[in-house]
Amino acid sequence: MARFDEFKPETGSDIVRPRELDATRVAATAALAVGLLFATSSVRAASVKSSSIDIRAAKIVDLTHAFDDKTIYWPTAPSNFELKKLAYGQTEGGYFYAANSFCAPEHGGTHLDAPIHFADGGKAADQVPLRQLIAPAVVIDVSAKAAADPDYRLSMEDLRTWEKKHGPIPSGAIVLLRTGWGKRWPDRKRYLGDDTPGDASKLHFPSYGKESAEYLVRQRQVGALGLDTASIDYGPSKDFVVHRVASAAGVPGLENLANLDQLPETGAWVFALPMKIARGSGGPLRIIALIPASAEPQH
Ligand SMILES: [Zn+2]
Repeated sequence: MARFDEFKPETGSDIVRPRELDATRVAATAALAVGLLFATSSVRAASVKSSSIDIRAAKIVDLTHAFDDKTIYWPTAPSNFELKKLAYGQTEGGYFYAANSFCAPEHGGTHLDAPIHFADGGKAADQVPLRQLIAPAVVIDVSAKAAADPDYRLSMEDLRTWEKKHGPIPSGAIVLLRTGWGKRWPDRKRYLGDDTPGDASKLHFPSYGKESAEYLVRQRQVGALGLDTASIDYGPSKDFVVHRVASAAGVPGLENLANLDQLPETGAWVFALPMKIARGSGGPLRIIALIPASAEPQH
């Protein structure tokens, strides 16, 4: 039966551990009915519930915005997503044929920030370990606070509240910050707080905070930091400290995510697979979540 076994990372300690999840191994079978099997052999059970998944029965949520001429890029990006038609229609050979070429900055739309984005010598897009990009999701909802303050940043108090309810955030988890901003996509002005072309000095949107990001990457050794706004640093940021903290720790960012409102706070698995651009500082991302039927209901 296709399933993900319970995720059992090493938890219960604030000691910095090696990035690799040595306790976790992945086995893939060729059998159609089996698909992927995630098995763990860690001695400690995770506090975060992450039940087995029958892949065929799991709900699949697409966390990706489609790429088109409305796709939001950073205000200073020299261009947006461009799709050029190369062929479309019946050929002389009597068959239909369609093909396009595309061109886009790496950092726009639903995309990955590779560690090299803000860390000299950091891993590039093609070097980020897949283990960090396929992992249980931890969803932290700050949408009410962000609705009251568009410059809201995830606080240590938010993390303490979350961990009090669900237990320690497991090592290797993909943290998804739900701000509610996904609903504003693709309205540039409402999403970024300002839509002046070429000017990134008047942006307003919520994100991670410095202390909370440091805690997540250093104390909790999370695999990646994702969210439903344009940046893992909040809109007014000038020093991009969260990017620097995450990049220095080898933790990629997953930005401009869609449909985070459809995920439970725990129990889902995320597959965040970017375009494999050699030496890329990031790139377009197709990210999905699998939610087992047993996952706790949405709050
Ligand atoms: Zn980026």
